Amino acid sequence: MNYRHAFHAGNFADAHKHLTLLALIDAMKRKDAPFVLLDTHAGAGLYDLFGGEARRTGEWQDGIGRLFAETRAPSLARAYLNQVRALNPDGRLRIYPGSPALAAATLRAQDRLILCELEPGALSALKQVIKTPGTAIHRRDGWEALGALLPPREAKRGVVLIDPPFEAANELDRLADALAATHKRWPQGVLAAWYPIKDRPPIDRFLRKLQQAGLPDLLVSELCIHSPITGVRLNGSGMVIINTPWKLDEDLREATGWLHDHLRQTAEAPWRVEMPDTAP
Ligand code: SAM
Repeated sequence: MNYRHAFHAGNFADAHKHLTLLALIDAMKRKDAPFVLLDTHAGAGLYDLFGGEARRTGEWQDGIGRLFAETRAPSLARAYLNQVRALNPDGRLRIYPGSPALAAATLRAQDRLILCELEPGALSALKQVIKTPGTAIHRRDGWEALGALLPPREAKRGVVLIDPPFEAANELDRLADALAATHKRWPQGVLAAWYPIKDRPPIDRFLRKLQQAGLPDLLVSELCIHSPITGVRLNGSGMVIINTPWKLDEDLREATGWLHDHLRQTAEAPWRVEMPDTAP
């Protein structure tokens, strides 16, 4: 396990993933009934963009660095930026929140957060950062947690974020299988997952697999910053959601288009927010 998210914190993919996650939480909060959020690959919780790892890559400068000072943005993008700004009250961007910190700051008293992380350094940082009552932090394999912790006791209402490091060659297949199996065991759950966009064919196979599995109300949100033929290592960021809350696609289309306007590095970089048909 070599992956350290600190090298990538706040990059364009984090901006896309985190804005989408906050939009999803916001949609869940339209109802008063409590829900649970399980983050299977939680990371360290907060990141210092002036720290050694983030400085080495500088990736955040083409991500949150391009957005932080923006004053005009769609409301979902504003909600995301406000959370980052709250951590940097002097107006100088330095601290960037990971998915656990964003979720902890957004969930209500009646909701429950479960975080899984395996890497000891990230786990110990996470425990320092997230002290919100009602949050459970597990040193646990996130893939295994899907089977062990779901369905949750709030059986009808819950969200899962699966955000693996994609170190293994078969991670996309594993993700598709995990989404299908989790949906089978917990049909009401809202399942969200992140994937990297490099070569197109494996991504298309992954999405076809989800469609053929008949996963309901499937949303695909993709934000690329380069043209598909540049051959750069990470061209784009993708999110899929299953059991997508009503009208989330419309809100995300506006916010993702705004992100694309600010983050793309070439005019030919594609983006989309779509709800493709799935097998009946
Ligand atoms: N979700 C985080 C965020 O948005 O801020 C970033 C997560 S990062 C992409 C992936 C994390 O998964 C890393 O911190 C890594 O240590 C952890 N990890 C790797 N394999 C894992 C596993 N099998 N179970 C749980 N965590 C794992």
